[in-house]
Order: sequence, then C-alpha cells, then structure tokens
Amino acid sequence: MIITDIRIQSYRLPLDPPFYAAWDPIPRRHFDATLTIVETDVGIVGIGGGDTMAGFESYKSFFIGQNPLQIARHVQVIETLNFHAARYWPLEMALWDIFGQSLGTPAAQLFGGFTTKILAYASCGELKSPDARAESALALHEQGFRALKIRIDLRRMDEGLQAMTAVRRAVGAAMDIMVDFNQAWRMPGDIAPSADPAAAQHLADVLHELGVLWLEEPLQGADVRGLAALRSRSKIRIAGGEMARSLADLLAYADADALDVYQPDVVLAVGLLRTRMLAEWVMARNRWFTPHTWSNGLGLLANLHVTAGVGGGPYLEFPYDPPGWTVERRDFMFTEGIFTDAEGYVHIPDRPGMGKTIDWDRLKHYAR
Ligand SMILES: [Mg+2]
Repeated sequence: MIITDIRIQSYRLPLDPPFYAAWDPIPRRHFDATLTIVETDVGIVGIGGGDTMAGFESYKSFFIGQNPLQIARHVQVIETLNFHAARYWPLEMALWDIFGQSLGTPAAQLFGGFTTKILAYASCGELKSPDARAESALALHEQGFRALKIRIDLRRMDEGLQAMTAVRRAVGAAMDIMVDFNQAWRMPGDIAPSADPAAAQHLADVLHELGVLWLEEPLQGADVRGLAALRSRSKIRIAGGEMARSLADLLAYADADALDVYQPDVVLAVGLLRTRMLAEWVMARNRWFTPHTWSNGLGLLANLHVTAGVGGGPYLEFPYDPPGWTVERRDFMFTEGIFTDAEGYVHIPDRPGMGKTIDWDRLKHYAR
C-alpha cells in the first residue's frame, strides 16, 4: 500500500450566538476545522483533524509514494517539520485511521486495546456567574456526568472561587470537580502576564479545601521548576502539558516530577505514537495520563482512541458546555457526534480505524 495523495480541506462553522472561551480574549464567532485526507492506492482513505496543517502543502512530497503503515518513520519526519513549520499531527491521525481500516479493527486496539469506554468529564469553557455555573453542574449531573472542569480567570479570581464554591454546594460529593487556570500558554496576541507562584499557591490551597480533583496549568508552561515546587508544597494534584511543543518538554516535566496529571493532546502536542509512549511511562510511575482534547470532534476522537488503548484516566476530557459549546458545534464534521451514555461514559466507535463517518454533504456548506 502507498500514499497517493494528501488533501487539506478547511471548513468554517458560523457560531451564533458566539462562544466565549475563558482563555480567549476574543469571542469566537466562527469555528474552524481542517480535515487531512490521506488517499492510498488500495482505496483506503484516512482522515485526521484537530489542528490547522498550515503550510503543509510544501512538505507533501515527504509522504507521497510511501507506505502509510511506516508510522514511526512518518512521525520522525513530522517532528522535523514541527521544528521548521507547524504541527502536522492530524496527518499521523489519518495514518492510524488507515492502519485500523486495513486490519478491520478500531484504532484503540492498535494502542493497546485496554478498554472500549472511558468516563468523561464535562470540560466547561465559559466563565459563568456562580449561580449559572451551579445550575449547569446540576444539569450535567442529571445527564450522567460524574465530573466537570471549570475555568478560573486570573483577573476574576474572587468570582471564579465563588463559582467553584457554588458548584460544590450544588453537587456535593456527587461529582468530581477539576479547575483549569489556563496559565501555561496564551492565545495569539494575548500578552497578559501569567500568575506568579504566590497566586498559584494560594489557589492550590483554597481549591484543596474545596476537594478539587486537580488544578490545571497554574503557572507558565516553561516554569518546570516552579511547577515541581508547587506540586511538592501542595496537597492538590497538579495537571499540565496539554500544548507541549516537543517530547523533550514533556520529558522535562517527567524528569522533574512536576505533574500529577499529564495531558498532552495527541493532535496538538507530540502526536499519537509519542503520547502513547509517554502515557506508558507516566502510568508506570503511578501518575495519571488523561489528555487535553479541546480542538474539535476529530481531535477528541484521536485522544479517545489513544486513551482507551493505553488505559488512561480516570477521566477523559469531553469539551461540552451548553448552550455555548455543544456536541453539534464541536462535531459538526460527523454524520453523528460523539456522545456520553447515561452513566457518563464515552465509547470508542465500534468500527475500523477512527470509526466516525464524515458528513461530506453537510461540510460542503462550510467549505472555506
Ligand atoms: Mg486545559
């Protein structure tokens, strides 16, 4: 089997009303998704997504004519491109899709096949008033979710802590609650200063008292020593690594034992193969592996397969914060979205490869 073509197609879904992501100073009035479509000479087509593939056209020739199943070779090439251009991990996702289809097995089997379902946590992206956030937590619990993650904004700490307290009061011990402080990286153009160690320590102490499961990205991502120090002084679990730029960055966290929860996103950080390796390492040391998944339905799907395959957990991030962020918006490229069941589990699709069907007819309306 050889790769005969790689096509990159982008789509833009208008968002009305807009979505106000806590980490983004600009409201999102549209939602972009790029599909990476890998064609082969045997008719198998692999689909990847979750990142933009910006500038990939000039590097296509490294892959055309190659065997798509030589994934370790392709990963090494993508790593060289990652240094010079952008992150092309959606291509790797498409190759695993082809691999699974060629064997007639779900991709999760290729990563270890540990399980076919994982408990999801509702990852809430908007800043809401304490009352509204408590109400949303109760609605999520009603839908079967056993955990949710909320955001606390550095510039609105008091309000964030009030929202956290209101959620705990509303759901009691019935749900695990995580908090994301989003200090590790910034959206393009956002040069607001990050939290300093004293602010992070204060937050860690308060959230521990509220029984929070983990505190995510309390400091700048590059502050490995700061994270390690915070972790050693705090009783709460420290999470991070979602947008690490290289395997070396993630190994630096591991070497410093800076995190309790490792969260590299397989399509936004270091790819599926490398993340699988890191996940095995992390879990062998009794730390948690549970990746970031906040890109789009394709990104969630790739992370779902890797996490189910290696047996990560205890939860998988499930970006969901209605009415602003819904399955319909997140998964607009699929004929059927990725849903949780009544017990709060998300299941890997029971079909070969990545296992979801692209809604090409619908996507025509959103082509860019
Ligand atoms: Mg996060």
